[in-house]
Amino acid sequence: MAVEEMEEVMPPEGAGAVIVAATPIGNLSDVSTRLRDTLREARKVAAEDTRRAARLLESVGARARMVSLHAHNERSRIAQLLNGVLGGEDLVLLCDAGTPGISDPGMRLVSEARRAGIRVTPLPGPCAAIAALSIAGFSAERFRFEGFLPARQAARRARLEQLKPVAETLVFYEAVHRLSATLEDMREAFGAGRNAVLAREMTKLHESAYGETLDGLCRKAASGTIVPRGEFTLVVAGASTPKENEGAAALDAVLNVLLSELSTRQAARLGAQLAGTPRRAAYQRALELNRPKQSAKGK
Ligand code: SAM
Repeated sequence: MAVEEMEEVMPPEGAGAVIVAATPIGNLSDVSTRLRDTLREARKVAAEDTRRAARLLESVGARARMVSLHAHNERSRIAQLLNGVLGGEDLVLLCDAGTPGISDPGMRLVSEARRAGIRVTPLPGPCAAIAALSIAGFSAERFRFEGFLPARQAARRARLEQLKPVAETLVFYEAVHRLSATLEDMREAFGAGRNAVLAREMTKLHESAYGETLDGLCRKAASGTIVPRGEFTLVVAGASTPKENEGAAALDAVLNVLLSELSTRQAARLGAQLAGTPRRAAYQRALELNRPKQSAKGK
């Protein structure tokens, strides 16, 4: 938007504020002093799931009135909520866990509030994407938050293909029942050797993190080493440097020749030696290169 279009709207006199408050992503001890005090002082809280919010409020001794605000009623509730704020009452916005608006409801309320000139202020705190990024050990000078990939495989694969050349670290949320399929699609799209960190149940009792190649993560998911329960955030290293790309291109060139004469296993073993690539990564790549031929044969 051009600067001249960004007209400043004066806060309506006597209006309250919308406080966008992050809440723990698992460990209730992550409630900050400020969050606790704000919730105790609040008279009205808009929450994605009021029963869940009630537990949080109870844990800090807060008694605010709760109004549900979720993806299905966001549009219709906003006017009612903002009228209250215009009338002078602060509104605390919560989501189930983490930061509202980050793969969670909140954006619409915030943008309408801003349009009405209402002050919107953050009460920062946990966010699974940032927490996972902080423990991944990949560059976060720049990163790309992708949130949830499409649930349908064709759309998910198409999105991953688009992301393949992205050099920045990628951050994804994923539901447990799609985790294995997503990891396999990532291995296919980004290559078996791309590094990734899978953060499970962060801040909770069974927190664990797996730092591996995508191939390694797929194997661990298939063997059950990665417990298929709980919440997962996946951080994937960005596309490799030109030097590494050259290495991948060299492996492809060698494999393409070898695969025309040899079995996948033999081609991978020789290809790994010739291109200086780990044998498992060469085997995975040989399978990928062979796949179009195999499916053509099957037709
Ligand atoms: N707004 C939230 C935030 O700021 O983190 C994210 C909400 S999104 C609906 C929920 C997803 O976040 C989960 O499916 C999972 O991918 C990720 N997530 C939430 N809590 C997590 C945790 N404790 N450990 C790992 N991932 C988590």
